Amino acid sequence: MAGEQLRYDGQTVVVTGAGGGLGKAYAVFFASRGANVVVNDLGGSFNGVGGSSSMADQVVKEITQAGGKAVANYDDVVNGESIIKTAIDNFGRIDILINNAGILRDISFKNMKDQDWDLIMKVHVIGAYKCARAAWPHMRKQKYGRVINTSSAAGLFGNFGQCNYSAAKLSQVGFTETLAKEGRKYNILCNVIAPIAGSRLTATVMPPEVLEVLKPDYVVPLVAVLVHPSNDESGAIFEVGGGHVAKMRWERAKGALLRADDSFTPGALLKKWDNVSDFSEPSHPEGPANFMELLEDAQKLP
Ligand code: NAD
Repeated sequence: MAGEQLRYDGQTVVVTGAGGGLGKAYAVFFASRGANVVVNDLGGSFNGVGGSSSMADQVVKEITQAGGKAVANYDDVVNGESIIKTAIDNFGRIDILINNAGILRDISFKNMKDQDWDLIMKVHVIGAYKCARAAWPHMRKQKYGRVINTSSAAGLFGNFGQCNYSAAKLSQVGFTETLAKEGRKYNILCNVIAPIAGSRLTATVMPPEVLEVLKPDYVVPLVAVLVHPSNDESGAIFEVGGGHVAKMRWERAKGALLRADDSFTPGALLKKWDNVSDFSEPSHPEGPANFMELLEDAQKLP
């Protein structure tokens, strides 16, 4: 595929939160490469207040004026069924789902209110679930589907003032890894990205010169590759921004094994603590089976 222009003719892409930022960049790109696009956006504020049809309408207008095919949908992502129905009603199918819609409710944990926590869970966790759940039967039936979920560095590493968002965003990793396992035999491939880009979510925390090198357009190539029919990657986590793309994975330290003759005491564990955090010879587990193998191997050691 290298060097060829990737195209998506005849395919239908649903992009949630496509009224601005990253979602708009995806929507405009896929329309320019032949796809039918559902431009979903609730049109509220960055912290999840209000709603309006104008953001989605504007993007649809830009796409159609450029000769592309797009329809607007103004539903909240928790109404995933209605968003996917827009794809089926207008284009007869759904091939690619990009769960991208998002908001922030940053506040220190000490001051967090239930509504700050609940709203973030609603949009990021329930919203992604609802859209994927509604798309899934169509993808299974046609034995084809591509799903992108959106995590964040805040989810992978934590970030001061974002414990609600961090929890919601790391959920997308586990969600994606399981969807990838369940979808594989139906050729439904699912990956999760942790993007970084200048948008209204980051405009207040990044200076203009930094935002300039982090254009949403620079995230598009990775998403484009992952949702193309030629892709075989699934269940992977990618960090992407400013043109840099890298896979992320879990790493396990050497580890310590307590045995019956150690009495399984905390003191016995403390004696071996250096091994618990020794990353000099790491392994990279890919599932629970790896752990049981490791346990069996370790039991054989003298
Ligand atoms: P953005 O605010 O420009 O775009 C998000 C869009 O989602 C908005 O247009 C908003 O109206 C829409 N939206 C919000 N709640 C919605 C809902 N309930 N239903 C439908 N639409 C809704 O922000 P962005 O930076 O482009 O963010 C896109 C995604 O990337 C988000 O999931 C965000 O958490 C994630 N992300 C962004 C960055 C970054 O650096 N920009 C970093 C990590 C993760």
